[in-house]
Amino acid sequence: MPVAAPTAEELALLQDEAVRFTRELIRIDTTNFGGNDPATWGRGETEAAQYVVARLQEVGLSPQVIESAPGRPSVLARIPGADRERGGLILHGHLDVVPARAEDWSVDPFGAEIIDGMIHGRGAVDMKDMVGMILALARHLARTGQVPPRDLLFGFFADEENGSVWGAQWIVEHHPEVFDGFTEAISEVGGYSITLPEKDTGEDVRAYLVQTAEKGLAWGRLRATGRAGHGSVPNDENAIVRLARAITAIDEHDFPTEYIASVRALFDGITEITGQGWDEEDIASFLPLAGGARHFVAGTLRDSANLTMLDGGYKVNVIPQTAEAGFDCRFLPGHQDALLALLDELSGEQVEVIVDHLGVSVDSPREGALVDAMTGAIEAEDPGARVLPYCLSAGTDNKPLSSLGISGYGFAPLQLPADLDFAPLFHGVDERVPVEAVRFGARVLLRLVGSC
Ligand SMILES: [Zn+2]
Repeated sequence: MPVAAPTAEELALLQDEAVRFTRELIRIDTTNFGGNDPATWGRGETEAAQYVVARLQEVGLSPQVIESAPGRPSVLARIPGADRERGGLILHGHLDVVPARAEDWSVDPFGAEIIDGMIHGRGAVDMKDMVGMILALARHLARTGQVPPRDLLFGFFADEENGSVWGAQWIVEHHPEVFDGFTEAISEVGGYSITLPEKDTGEDVRAYLVQTAEKGLAWGRLRATGRAGHGSVPNDENAIVRLARAITAIDEHDFPTEYIASVRALFDGITEITGQGWDEEDIASFLPLAGGARHFVAGTLRDSANLTMLDGGYKVNVIPQTAEAGFDCRFLPGHQDALLALLDELSGEQVEVIVDHLGVSVDSPREGALVDAMTGAIEAEDPGARVLPYCLSAGTDNKPLSSLGISGYGFAPLQLPADLDFAPLFHGVDERVPVEAVRFGARVLLRLVGSC
């Protein structure tokens, strides 16, 4: 049973609410500094969750709040579908944002001002825009009594910007039953448009990038152990030196370029539209075609290992027993075991590799009914547009959900101006999103849930 087409008033309200919720949520500062200490971690997530709960209750929904720890709530709301036997669809977003240094911004990062048709503020694209859209969508369905073809679960998670530890990851580990019967999910960092020159006419064509894959991540430490001693005495088991050797070996490692299937599919799709072929040996000249997505795409051509922190010694005349360095590794789908083994090998026997946080990679089917429905919804709202798959260099809450067998996609639809450099807005200064793009996204998502 498809969802009926909305009346003009219903559609106007859906779009207005998506914009209103995006702005009101930006004004709730939900900065996530990492960790779980109330001294460094703001209380904003609770206020944002209460805001979401109130908006859902206003239309008669009964949201469930799951608190992983005091002040770390996530909100879930269900709308039953016509066919309860089918696997359900999760629409989810995170309520937290990364820090914003107000002095770097040209506007108040938590003001949600609209300037030149753009909503400015931390979270405008990551990802209070999508949260606003799905919240407005849930309300539309509840208000109108429309029954979608299959069960929908709306999720508003805590702590995504800290690796989902106290949000989706915690719920997956402690309350997996809330996802019972759900097989697919959509969330952030996909569904936005890039603009390409059409090969025959040279005219602009929008291509919407559906994120079908994500790199995995391993955050951890190298711990070198040696023999402590007096700074005047020769020591050939110095932990700092051992650590330095490991750091150098990792940094000097040349990770080979590898074009995985989702990356190839994107490049082939761009070639089909533009007529411009891509060359494995000279990808740098092709990447600019990926427009606002090119920075993300550039991060999906090989694995990476960056050393990010350093901690060793406590007195200048004491050789310490141990020394540590933090690392941030990102691996392509299927490369997890090989990358961790390589890290061990490069570090050497006297340096232990400790993985503190592992986020699995995601590689969802690039074809199927849901991808067809996403494509159809985009084409209906932007006739002549194309839809292409791509791999994201970063991670989303689809990682923990994937461990339950849920196929996750990045599909927060935004129709973007051709000249908007999109990827750098994520965690960037003067983060902003076009008002019209949020309205567009709300319409696309309504079509999607009615047709999949
Ligand atoms: Zn995000």
